[in-house]
Amino acid sequence: MKKASKFKCPKCGFGFFVSEPNRYDILEFIRGDFDVINSEYIEADFKIFCRDCGSEIDENESIKQGKIVLKHPVRKSGFFK
Ligand SMILES: [Zn+2]
Repeated sequence: MKKASKFKCPKCGFGFFVSEPNRYDILEFIRGDFDVINSEYIEADFKIFCRDCGSEIDENESIKQGKIVLKHPVRKSGFFK
């Protein structure tokens, strides 16, 4: 039924994704300036996100299953490499 959407974000159906560098900050525009409200360090080379809704994509699982798989929200401590 949703055959065509397996290469798209399972959440919103968008088909483009963006990668992020090892660190990214979550910003909020507060009182005319950008405030960093959270910083995140990532041990893997990069993460992939849906360009539209921002859901994190599980790259390895997506490749393994041949479809877009959202990353488990729980951070894995033993994530390889
Ligand atoms: Zn999405």
